[in-house]
Amino acid sequence: MLKRRPVVLLIFLSLLAVLISVSLVSAATEVDTSELRGAVTLEGVRAHQAALQAIADSNGGTRVATSPGYEESGEYVEGLLSGAGYQVDRQNFDFPFFQENSPPTLEQVSPNSVVYPPNDVAGFFTMEYSAGGDVTALIQAVDVTIPPAATPSSTSGCEASDFTGFTAGRIALIQRGTCNFSVKVENAAAAGAAGVIIFNEGQAGRTEGFNGTLGGPVANIPSVGASFAIGEELYNLSQQGDVEVHIIVDAISETRSTFNVIATTPGGRDDRVVVVGAHLDSVAEGPGINDNGSGTATILEIALQMADLGIEPRNKVVFAFWGAEEAGLHGSAYYVSQLSASQIKKIAVNLNFDMVGSPNYARFVYDGDGSATPLAGPNGSKNIEQVFLEYFGEQNLETEPTAFDGRSDYGPFIAVGIPAGGLFTGAEEINPDNGIAYDPCYHQACDTFANNNDDAIDEMSDAAAHAVLTFAETTSAVNGTDKGKGKGKWANAMEYRGSHLLK
Ligand SMILES: [Zn+2]
Repeated sequence: MLKRRPVVLLIFLSLLAVLISVSLVSAATEVDTSELRGAVTLEGVRAHQAALQAIADSNGGTRVATSPGYEESGEYVEGLLSGAGYQVDRQNFDFPFFQENSPPTLEQVSPNSVVYPPNDVAGFFTMEYSAGGDVTALIQAVDVTIPPAATPSSTSGCEASDFTGFTAGRIALIQRGTCNFSVKVENAAAAGAAGVIIFNEGQAGRTEGFNGTLGGPVANIPSVGASFAIGEELYNLSQQGDVEVHIIVDAISETRSTFNVIATTPGGRDDRVVVVGAHLDSVAEGPGINDNGSGTATILEIALQMADLGIEPRNKVVFAFWGAEEAGLHGSAYYVSQLSASQIKKIAVNLNFDMVGSPNYARFVYDGDGSATPLAGPNGSKNIEQVFLEYFGEQNLETEPTAFDGRSDYGPFIAVGIPAGGLFTGAEEINPDNGIAYDPCYHQACDTFANNNDDAIDEMSDAAAHAVLTFAETTSAVNGTDKGKGKGKWANAMEYRGSHLLK
């Protein structure tokens, strides 16, 4: 059990003062979080990252979902949280596992002999969840617009009717745009295509070869995402005569089982549940100590220090360590899929911490109200953003907004209208302050214990502790009003699922 709070009366009096002085329409009530922030130290957080590094080191350098390193990561957090008095459950689920065994091939066989560079933005990438295969066939363009329209709008391959007149056995040449890649590939497979090349649409910012996902194994044909230049070249040649292309994808795509670790406070109001999440898995390529050992270590240390201080939060807090995030948010999606309508209504907020120690960091706060990014979160997300912005303001630390684009585990929560928010210190994008990536080791073997910035993770873990305790103790209804009716709006609005583009 969690230990009893020693200073109940003091906290009660300070809350009473806040109740009198502040309007409580929907904002979170102010909570003194200084004791918890003092207990969540840099050393405490880094010690968990060191433990995760040691686990990776003894298991082939990775903690990817389904690997022995992931199993040991699960045992590590389960042991500590059980010992601290949390109710700890391992939630098993199946997910579509995808692994590429060697780099793909895309070459023009005729009229010219051209080998395009694999895994290169100047070339092409395998579509995640592509089937394996080795095909040589003529290409046929499907509702392609060259030159491209002024603004992104291509519906190439989005409708079954685009394939009227398509010759079965050919490779479909399809343009990125409008609908999910999975729709284009499914339609092509239904029309008898032997393979699919989806090339970038051609507008500024939409020219490179790209890392797309089909979201799951949707068709039994190889599919790649190529640069606009490749698509344009193949299309122009196809207007003059036959163009033969060779595609090889060497990958396995199959159902496998993994798990989330869910740790719940024994007490607290179960109609104002605070779900605090961080993904526990790494990518196959490395140990994942910033992505997402940093978020894992942060919420783990917050949970342990809350217990150690004897905090019995007013609202039930669920610390969730998600599995298979890197394969497409599968753990958080499974968790949300298992909630009843009434359980969804009872989750007040989802706080997400995915990468909070990036070496060349910025302080990104999810843009809950959509004031600077395309998509506002469900009603209530603004309040979460506000809690972070006020906190950083008091600390004289600058922040920047970051978009709800589907790149982490808040996605399934906002898809059902649950207010969400959280922190992020940047991934592979270039920090404009100095022209270097926020995390130069993103999704690589060098994402080790050394891939860190002490100031970043110290500041972020304090801010996370502040927000977790604020929502754990708030007396105001921050539940939001979009739950149950937000479906559709957020579910289809995001460009990404995890680190891969959806459309
Ligand atoms: Zn991550």
